Amino acid sequence: MIDLRSDTVTKPTKGMRKVMVEAEVGDDVFAEDPSVNALQEKVADLFGFEAGLFVPSGTMGNQLSVNVLTDPGDEVLIEQTGHIFNYESTAAAHLSSVLLNPQPGEKGKLSADKLEDFLRGSHEWEPHSKVIALENSTNKGGGCCYTEDELSALRAFADERELLIHLDGARIWNAMTATGTDPQFYSTVADTMSVCFSKGLGAPVGSMILSSAERIKRAHKMRKMWGGGMRQIGILAAAADYAIEKHYPLLAEDHRRARKLAETIDSCSKLSIDLNSVETNILIFDVSEGSAEEAVDSLSKEGIRLVPFGPKTLRATFHLQITDDDLEKAADIFRKIFS
Ligand SMILES: *Cc1c(COP(=O)(O)O)cnc(C)c1O
Repeated sequence: MIDLRSDTVTKPTKGMRKVMVEAEVGDDVFAEDPSVNALQEKVADLFGFEAGLFVPSGTMGNQLSVNVLTDPGDEVLIEQTGHIFNYESTAAAHLSSVLLNPQPGEKGKLSADKLEDFLRGSHEWEPHSKVIALENSTNKGGGCCYTEDELSALRAFADERELLIHLDGARIWNAMTATGTDPQFYSTVADTMSVCFSKGLGAPVGSMILSSAERIKRAHKMRKMWGGGMRQIGILAAAADYAIEKHYPLLAEDHRRARKLAETIDSCSKLSIDLNSVETNILIFDVSEGSAEEAVDSLSKEGIRLVPFGPKTLRATFHLQITDDDLEKAADIFRKIFS
């Protein structure tokens, strides 16, 4: 089975399992896990933030970020395909009493020159716009990345209007691989950022929230309240550290393979794809005949798993466990079914 459903299906590699077994651990609720402490410092330093906090999931990282940036009754502007709006239940409403204000963007990206119209709060009966939530790379937006200029313009806009910025960097590693952006740049545009170790990086569990020392202190308290205080998780920190050192450099290979399959898809008469939108490891494309569900079924019978992403839309995601051999096989099957 060639599993292109998501980059979350990756399993820990042999080398990763070895460092997990050997990891030094302690009770992280006492802040005594040396592997966790080292990882938090390392990732905060890498991106230029004061502090970091290891969390069990990207969802918790995003929700803690929303929580520490807002007061109850505030609203968060977000592109309408954003993960925080679509795939985290109603957590922001439930946990932080804030409203998400979803707005149309392009390929999952918001742009500074369109945001002005969406801001609210000049009258006391309006919700108070407080945070702009961005995603880089975008998930439902097809793996597209913000340019540094786009992010700088959003930062300038936020400063002018006294807004804060959260950056959902679940796939920031893919974005950096595609754009070559210096990791330190992100702390100049974002007030909080979340990063995942268990997407394309291949760790079994784990994300991190990054911000100022003060906000991380508040997030630490909230993580405990939400039941996210963990004990000997140095085992997971070791996996995340290994993922950064050994798997992060391999993302370029995922991107190369994704582009290759995109070209095959582009050559199939029953499929359409915008090749310009293929920047990282995610492909979003449409079927011209039948439904996405039917296409998923036909592919599954031939040994390829994908997910439907709309009535006529499918998503394929490349990751650590997809080899060149898998790519060749997948391309042949796509040509056979969709030519
Ligand atoms: C996967 C993902 C997350 C986090 O998801 P979890 O399953 O909670 O780890 C957050 N944002 C984006 C854009 C994602 O793709």
